[in-house]
Amino acid sequence: EIDVSGLVKRFGANTVLDGIDLCLKPGERVAIIGPSGTGKSTLLRCLNYLDRPDQGKIAIGDLTVDAAKAGKAEILALRRRTGFVFQGYALFANMTARQNIMEGLTTVRGWSKEKAQDRADQILTQIGLGDRGDSYPSGLSGGQQQRVGIGRAMALDADLMLFDEPTSALDPEWVGEVLDLIRKIADGRQTMLIVTHEMQFAREIADRVVFMEGGRIVEQGPPGQIFGNAQDNRTRSFLRRVG
Ligand code: ATP
Ligand code: MG
Repeated sequence: EIDVSGLVKRFGANTVLDGIDLCLKPGERVAIIGPSGTGKSTLLRCLNYLDRPDQGKIAIGDLTVDAAKAGKAEILALRRRTGFVFQGYALFANMTARQNIMEGLTTVRGWSKEKAQDRADQILTQIGLGDRGDSYPSGLSGGQQQRVGIGRAMALDADLMLFDEPTSALDPEWVGEVLDLIRKIADGRQTMLIVTHEMQFAREIADRVVFMEGGRIVEQGPPGQIFGNAQDNRTRSFLRRVG
């Protein structure tokens, strides 16, 4: 189980996360939607300590991290339990697809090169790039690069996968194959938190949709309820604008 409580993040005088409480059951797939600048990326980044939260608690399984007191060891332990997929691919340009997938396994996990290589080859097959392990990012299409970015997070077998608008930097022609891969991961009941502006996709894969505005969770519920019968005016107005 994942339990986030009272999460606060400020950038100077700007309170970007204003007390976020969010629970995920094992296997639950949660989509986060909301206007630009509302703190969605910051929430994901705080869960992985890419941004350091100012207040609150993050619990993943038996690990509880208190934002105000977290030390290096706890942050590393938290990172070991989460996998992050970025909007851009953020691949290492000087490494092959296989090496990109191996990297987290050898550095964060401390695996031997051989073990990491076997795992990377497994993942390459799962992401449909079994024959492209030796290719460098520059030799791959945008869709293939993002599949490697996702593969890198998959390889970690994380308790929680975090996706931040995984298709929004892609040319339209590559969006479908990346959504297909995420769909496959979701079908495997991977616990995931996905920030997306693809409302149709959110409706299809999410068990629950969370609407955020102004650093707060305004409303949440099953996709049918949020998209069909939202209670809050802010949710309805957002959905009218994007819909
Ligand atoms: P979008 O839909 O455009 O991706 P978002 O909901 O992901 O938006 P965030 O990127 O989390 O929004 O940003 C929330 C607020 O925090 C914005 O006002 C942004 O300017 C501010 N912010 C984010 N990162 C930083 C930073 N490193 N330093 C200062 N302010 C930041
Ligand atoms: Mg964002």
